[in-house]
Amino acid sequence: MSLLEGRTAVVTGAARGIGLAIARLLVEEGAAVVIGDLVEADAVEAAKSLPGTALGVRCDVTVEEEVVSMLALCQQEFGSLDVVVNNAGITKDKTMRKMSSDDFRSVVDVHLYGAWLGTKHASLAMREQAEGGSIINISSISGKVGNPGQTNYSAAKAGMVGLTKAAAKEVGHAGVRVNAVQPGLIRTAMTAAMPQDVFESKLADIPLGRAGEPEEVAAVVLFLASDLSSYMTGCVLEVGGGRNI
Ligand code: NAD
Repeated sequence: MSLLEGRTAVVTGAARGIGLAIARLLVEEGAAVVIGDLVEADAVEAAKSLPGTALGVRCDVTVEEEVVSMLALCQQEFGSLDVVVNNAGITKDKTMRKMSSDDFRSVVDVHLYGAWLGTKHASLAMREQAEGGSIINISSISGKVGNPGQTNYSAAKAGMVGLTKAAAKEVGHAGVRVNAVQPGLIRTAMTAAMPQDVFESKLADIPLGRAGEPEEVAAVVLFLASDLSSYMTGCVLEVGGGRNI
């Protein structure tokens, strides 16, 4: 029996990387999935590559109308909105000395404001459903410990933890669960952009001795999306190979 048979999900920033691995696993477990990403053609292509029911749409998570229409599309096409994964993200790493206000604001905008828009509008829709729903915010270990060169990203990812816990308290009565996942060092385009020596130095801090794969983050998201976690809300699950525990 699949874990998400008959359910529906929206995953943002899912044209590639961790988001795509999440979308693939949710589809494999029986969910009908909407992929939202910045470039429509990439989202459509990613949806086509999945082994089940999936649609791709353009959605910039910082634009409220686009978030609202992406969520509405899931309801219109698939009949409900059961799972929303706020995964879209960018990095603009620099020390504070070199970081501009725009570098700070744009990163906070995509991660924190984007996740707030997704959480707000998903919970508004889900609270009208008898079964409620599950919202999962992709934070980062960087939001737990703070990384030099990431004052923007660490602030945004820590903010997502506060958002997750506050929202969980507001909407739990309606059967809507809100949880967060904090990946550590995961092999994607985002980390491929890191200088090799920085990547290697991070490996030294990981008790499991290796970087994680997007599928290993997806497995934890599946757990939070499914009824296996039915009594969990406001939780932050680390997927970091033991890094920074
Ligand atoms: P990635 O760069 O491979 O993919 C990010 C996706 O988000 C891209 O498809 C991009 O187009 C999309 N995106 C960017 N801005 C957007 C916007 N405004 N609206 C909609 N989509 C947008 O990154 P990834 O490594 O797969 O990261 C996914 C998430 O996981 C991010 O939130 C990231 O911060 C988080 N994370 C990643 C790691 C890691 O090691 N890779 C670690 C911790 C947390």
